[in-house]
Amino acid sequence: MYFSILLLFFVVGAIFGSFYNVVGYRIPKGQSLLYPPSHCTKCDHRLTPIELIPILSFIFLGGKCKVCKEKISWFYPIFEFSSGVLFALSYAVFGFSLECLLAIVFISMLLIIIISDYQTMTIPDSVLIFFSILIIIIKIFIVGFDGVGIALLNGLAAFVFMLLLKLFGDFLFKKESMGGGDIKLMAVFGLMFGFWMSIVSVFMAAIIGLPVSLIMIKNKSSHEIPFGPFLAVAAIIIVLLKLDISTLLGIITLR
Ligand SMILES: [Zn+2]
Repeated sequence: MYFSILLLFFVVGAIFGSFYNVVGYRIPKGQSLLYPPSHCTKCDHRLTPIELIPILSFIFLGGKCKVCKEKISWFYPIFEFSSGVLFALSYAVFGFSLECLLAIVFISMLLIIIISDYQTMTIPDSVLIFFSILIIIIKIFIVGFDGVGIALLNGLAAFVFMLLLKLFGDFLFKKESMGGGDIKLMAVFGLMFGFWMSIVSVFMAAIIGLPVSLIMIKNKSSHEIPFGPFLAVAAIIIVLLKLDISTLLGIITLR
């Protein structure tokens, strides 16, 4: 039974992941989510339902467009698979609960941000606002209005801290050191897991980002490297490992 529920969460996650990929790609460009329907970017062949099954379609089609045989990026099935795994992990960690729903909503926002920030170097306000509202509503049921008030203050504190950090960075490097989207994202982090863990997430993101950036520079990739996806990965780790500042400080002082 437990395994079938996990599998169900995985399948639902993979389906949502396939949709988030579209959302993350189209929202920053101001395109409609429904029109045009999914199509091959090379020959415009409109994908039939059988070609739209997450992960499986890619395997059946051998990673190629059915009509023009253009290669389909490995990124799509990997992203859909990861999304499925993250939904299943949310269930494994939090069980059938409001906390699980909260984790899935938050991770959904992060998945969309990973796509949009990588593709367009922007984190759309509409995505941040939409998911912040959902997070606030779910949190009211978990921690009550007082708890949400405190969470909002934490979001504000994280936002102000990042803004100051950015202004300092701009002054230091004499150029834009951090995007506005990253700063607004920190407000949502503060709301989600508090001020201190938001600060920790910046350091985690820097640590995760360093090797990736070095590899991209070594491979002479011309793609600009946004910081948002690394913040997103750090936040996913924090939520699924239930990291909080007191346990972190506990770990540090124990050693
Ligand atoms: Zn095609």
